[in-house]
Order: sequence, then C-alpha cells, then structure tokens
Amino acid sequence: MTVRSGVRTDIGRARARNEDAYLVRDPLFAVADGMGGHRGGNVASKVALETIRAFDAGGTDGDSASELVKDIRTANQTVLARGEADRDLRGMGTTITALLLQGEHATIAHVGDSRAYRLRDGGLEQLTQDHTLVHQLVEEGRITADQAGRHPQRSILTRAVGVEPSVDVDASTIELRLGDRLLLCTDGLTGMLSDDAIREVLASEEDPQRASDRLVEAANAAGGDDNITVVVIDVLEASPAPETAKPAGTGTMAPPAVSTPAEVRQPRRWRRAAILTAAIVVALLVAGWVGVHAYANGQWYVATSNGRVAIYHGIPARVLGVHLSHVAATTDLSAAAAEQLEPWAGIHDGITATSFGRAQAIVDQIRADLAAASVAGG
Ligand code: MG
Repeated sequence: MTVRSGVRTDIGRARARNEDAYLVRDPLFAVADGMGGHRGGNVASKVALETIRAFDAGGTDGDSASELVKDIRTANQTVLARGEADRDLRGMGTTITALLLQGEHATIAHVGDSRAYRLRDGGLEQLTQDHTLVHQLVEEGRITADQAGRHPQRSILTRAVGVEPSVDVDASTIELRLGDRLLLCTDGLTGMLSDDAIREVLASEEDPQRASDRLVEAANAAGGDDNITVVVIDVLEASPAPETAKPAGTGTMAPPAVSTPAEVRQPRRWRRAAILTAAIVVALLVAGWVGVHAYANGQWYVATSNGRVAIYHGIPARVLGVHLSHVAATTDLSAAAAEQLEPWAGIHDGITATSFGRAQAIVDQIRADLAAASVAGG
C-alpha cells in the first residue's frame, strides 16, 4: 500500500506544555496524549511511542493485530516502570492510538480517547470508541452523545497506558480502499471540533499536510483548550499482497521487498534481545544510582567552598553529571591559609568523615593548626 501522510502537533492556546506525541513511520502511525503532573505527561506519551516504535519496525509478519496489541502492552509496562522509578513521574499515563498498515488492511489498536477516523466517499466514520467515563454513560443510555460532547468530565479516562500493571487494548482490522483517508488525532482536536467540522476540512483539502495544518488551525480558532495532534494518511494505491510479492532483487522498480516471516522474525528476536539487555543495563544503573545515593547520604567531608573551608554532606563525586554532595556548613577559615599547612595541603580534594561531628572535629583541628601557625609565624 502506498500512502502519503501529513502530521502536525500544536501546544494549543491554553496549556503550558505540549504533552502529545506522534509517530509517523510507514507502516506504523500513532498519536499519544500524555497526562500527569510536572513533566510526567510529556514523558509518558514519548516513552510509550518510543516503545512501540522499537518493537514494530518490520513487524508486518503473522498476526499484526496481536503484535500491535502486544507492543502497546509492553509500552504499558515501560511507562508504569518509569513512573514507579521516579517520584516526579509517578501517576503518569498516556493514551495511544496506533495504526499499522499491512497490504490492503490496516490494524488499529488503541487505549484512551485519542481517535482514529476514516474518510471514504466524503463520509467520516469514527473507527475507535473512547475509553472515557462519558462514553460509558452514553453506552448505558444515561446521557446523549450530544451531552457527552459538552460534559465537564468528558476527559476522564476509564483506561490509559502506564497506570495499571495490565491494560485492555482494543484492536480491529479494517480493509483499505484506494482513496481512503485516515485520521489519527488527540482529544485537543475532537474536543474543539465537531465530527462534521473535521469531515469538512478532510473532504475539502487534498494535500494531507495542509489538511493537518488546517485541522490544527481550526481547533485553535475554536479555543485551543488542549494540545492538538493530527496525523492524516492517504491511501494512494494498493500494493501486492505478501503472497504475490516477488523475491527481493527482481525488478528495480518494485516496491520495498516484502520480507518473509522467517526474515522478519530474525531481526525482531534480535531486537527484543537487545531491548531486554538495555532494560537490564538500565535497571542495574538505577540500582547502582540508588545505592550510591544512599551511601552518599551517609557521608561527609571537609573541603573548600568560595575560598573558605567548608563541610559537605555526601561524597566528592559526580554521577551522570549530578553532584552527590552539597555544602552543609561553611566556616570563616581561609582555604588558602589551610593549604599552606602540610597536613591540609590537599584539602580542596576533600577529607572524608563518617559523620557531621567528625567533619567538625577536622575543622576544629584545622582551626587549631592555623592558630598555632600564626603564633609560630609571629
Ligand atoms: Mg489531550
């Protein structure tokens, strides 16, 4: 399948940060809408898409729907683990809506309220069901679809990636036709524009990039209450199905060779092994970091700060660019004068102590030695 795509993400007009992310890497396309305090939302959406990007390249073999679902479950684990490892990121999560092209079909998998639509013959069809509280209320007949669109709690999700140890992923496979236009978008678009307004732009703008730009501009013109991300994918022509594909190397004008399952699985296995290794290395680094940090918290040393002798809490080192110590107390003793005395010549490198009291004792000794030296020197 040959496609042409456009993409645009925008902070909108009301938010301080853009926590949306997108992935455009034919045959895989995705949008993600992150949430969580501080930088959490931003991290969640990016980590999730990096995870599915790493897993799915070349993965058009076998059952693509279950592969994509598996990848989103892996993203769920990855985001959850990152959130648990970093207090600033705790509680973060993200939506994912991903689309994988495969021959004349596309698999769509999603969690949350970012949507996929298809424009065909001028009509717009929503391909995903929002995992939101209000959608559930509509399903139960308790509110109307119209009320849902204006509901104050319309952004409350019933499912998200990275929040619970496991996640239900909705997946479906659709047939593609020449001329189909697919849209992936975050709720910053659908919260601002009706399906009809979206349809109007998609049906009237031929170029997918300009259509993406116009959708974002329209959402901003309607208020831009949230971050807005859109991916527009146009199906230009059908490619041969895998079984009719010629072996690689025959015919220079052939589309990129379709790998046989054996060819695909090999690099995928290798990739998974590489990712597992990387995950173990990261875990060891994190464990090492936590250990070093705990050790540093129990250590003190005497060194110099702004030309004075000072007591530091921690160890005189930097790990990953982060200082493992801070000045706990400064003194009125001249660092230069102390360095003149033989026992304290190396004081700028730090003299370690196992407690603040011992560090103070070192300072007292320096003070006594300086006093003695000044008496001796007249
Ligand atoms: Mg949003």
